[in-house]
Amino acid sequence: MTQTDYDLVIIGAGPAGLTAGIYAARARMNVLLLEKTVPGGQILVTDWIENYPGFPEGISGYDLAEKMKIQAEELGLKIETAEVHSLNLSGQSKQIVLKDRSITAKSLIIASGASPRNLGIGEDKFMGKGVSFCATCDAPFFKEKTVVAVGGGDTAVQEAIFLTKFAKKVYLVHRRDELRAAKILQERAFANDKIEFVWDSVATGMEGFFGLEGVKVKNLKTKEERTLKADGCFIWIGILPNTSFLNNAVETDEFGFIRADATMQTSVPGVFAAGDVRDTPLRQISTAVGDAAIAAVCAEHFIENL
Ligand SMILES: Cc1cc2nc3c(=O)[nH]c(=O)nc-3n(C[C@H](O)[C@H](O)[C@H](O)COP(=O)(O)OP(=O)(O)OC[C@H]3O[C@@H](n4cnc5c(N)ncnc54)[C@H](O)[C@@H]3O)c2cc1C
Repeated sequence: MTQTDYDLVIIGAGPAGLTAGIYAARARMNVLLLEKTVPGGQILVTDWIENYPGFPEGISGYDLAEKMKIQAEELGLKIETAEVHSLNLSGQSKQIVLKDRSITAKSLIIASGASPRNLGIGEDKFMGKGVSFCATCDAPFFKEKTVVAVGGGDTAVQEAIFLTKFAKKVYLVHRRDELRAAKILQERAFANDKIEFVWDSVATGMEGFFGLEGVKVKNLKTKEERTLKADGCFIWIGILPNTSFLNNAVETDEFGFIRADATMQTSVPGVFAAGDVRDTPLRQISTAVGDAAIAAVCAEHFIENL
């Protein structure tokens, strides 16, 4: 085996990357975790988490991220702030290209997660002026105001409920006539009289001069269009994988999520994927940490067998 800088490099310090780091550090591997922003990933923008076992009263996303980070660092995990720009996986040693240098590793875990999907209806113009993807970050700006929330899954419904702590009214715009969110969240949303459901509808445009003043919606059944007067619009219509650095280096599905087998190994031997970036039926913290534990242990086995 050619000489490498590390046994294992992990890309991304969300729940998946931090968990992989915990397992690798405990296995006394020479491991480096690369994170382009700050450790925590998407849970940093999650107000309250109720479905992660061990916290019967729930826990804030920030606190959970902090606990994971502390646990990893206390075990000796080295976390570096650096963005991965590209990969060269053609040789036995995996090459990871950063802004100012390249590093090599025997094995790689890609845990770069996902980012919110855009509607593409002019939200760029109103970003920070009414449009947001993060209720935890921005909800307090909408105290006693009217906001639109777009989406019908767990995240949309949970965050719409959170918005009602601040806003006087929340329109929840959903393209179907029923929600996809967990039943417990649906029950809470239906019982919340600050939420008005706008069923069978999609957001088609945004209006405003300096800041957002309204969101245009179209009913898909009646074709009727109208503008919901609102100061804010929060968009939760799904996610896209953070894989711009991949350049087809590993196999992905048609949406760009990385395909992996039951050991989390990708199409390239020694390269593993974990968490939201993976082609998986459920994207949650519990599934991300489960993937990551498997990936780290299987990466260790891969290195032992080199
Ligand atoms: C608003 C909201 C509420 C949610 N609520 C819940 C909930 O209640 N319960 C639950 O279980 N799940 C919830 N989720 C989902 C959960 O947050 C994700 O499933 C989980 O964070 C996935 O973890 P991950 O580590 O795979 O990816 P992420 O959390 O996306 O972390 C990926 C990390 O990789 C980094 N990265 C990306 N590209 C690069 C690069 N090129 N170089 C270096 N670093 C890079 C990113 O900066 C990020 O820190 C919620 C998500 C959102 C957005």
